[in-house]
Amino acid sequence: DLLKNAGVAMHYAKRKGGNQYQYFSPDMTAIALRRHNLERHLRKAVGRGELAMHYQPLFDIALGQYSGMEALMRWDNPELGEVRPEEFIPLAEDTGLIVSIGEWSLRQSCRQAATWVSQGMTLARLAVNVSAMQVLHKGFAQLVSSILAETGLDPRLLELELTESAIISDEGTVLAVLLSLKQMGVQLAIDDFGIGYSSLGRLKRFPIDRLKIDKSFVGDIGQDSGNGGIANAVIALAEGMGMKVTAEGVETDGQLDYLKNRRCHEVQGFLLSRPLTALQIEAFFRQWA
Ligand code: C2E
Ligand code: CA
Ligand code: CA
Ligand code: CA
Repeated sequence: DLLKNAGVAMHYAKRKGGNQYQYFSPDMTAIALRRHNLERHLRKAVGRGELAMHYQPLFDIALGQYSGMEALMRWDNPELGEVRPEEFIPLAEDTGLIVSIGEWSLRQSCRQAATWVSQGMTLARLAVNVSAMQVLHKGFAQLVSSILAETGLDPRLLELELTESAIISDEGTVLAVLLSLKQMGVQLAIDDFGIGYSSLGRLKRFPIDRLKIDKSFVGDIGQDSGNGGIANAVIALAEGMGMKVTAEGVETDGQLDYLKNRRCHEVQGFLLSRPLTALQIEAFFRQWA
């Protein structure tokens, strides 16, 4: 079976890169094989109902209450098992599949949030991740607008999380898309902030409402190396630019105290709650209402 699979990988490599398969080390062959297999299954994942959305509660420090949730995609395939987003999202981005599965994710989470609101849940915000390729894909603002219309979700409840790479890619196009999203009332956040390639000048020109501090910098808090310096700098930067700031990956009371003392607005992490299924979220918010 392994040999048969290796044959497939070589055939695949050959198709893609001419006669270059002989340069593949066994490790690279295994990686190419896995990717090929994942891609093949991912193409059918939406149609086969293998994707699901989980939701991680967000906690507003000043208000002392849960302020919303971030939608996170999950993929469970009968053959592959649960594939982690860190593996399938980059693959979806490389292959262009993110355009369709990202649309599914946005529609599914807006539909769910609208249902919750209609059932009386107090939901301040639904945050949804979008990749650079989705934002750059023709008609993205229109797509968001029609998903909002179709699901009935109040645009002010929706926040889209973009990475820094999305705003540095094609400034003119991205800026126009973001401005029309803002006009609809949608909120915008920069995800994984702090890795630091967006110039501050550009950041200022973009209609950004929130910075999200990457969890690696939250993990630094209380460590000898770093010791929260970057988290602290991002909080100060957000404050100076009149933006909100959320710290992700909060796992300890020490990290929460540090962020509270520095007036970080909002936190998210395993300390408060792991990402939950829709059913678990309903129980979670009922308990906090
Ligand atoms: P992200 O947007 O930075 O999401 C935060 C990640 O941190 C999530 O990983 C979440 O489960 C994890 N996390 C939350 N709290 C903690 C904590 O206290 N400790 C640790 N160690 N981790 C924590 P997840 O769900 O595996 O998602 C990985 C990435 O995949 C996301 O990173 C996002 O970039 C991408 N992604 C997920 N869902 C979607 C989607 O629907 N569309 C798009 N375009 N990307 C998505
Ligand atoms: Ca995110
Ligand atoms: Ca993030
Ligand atoms: Ca991240």
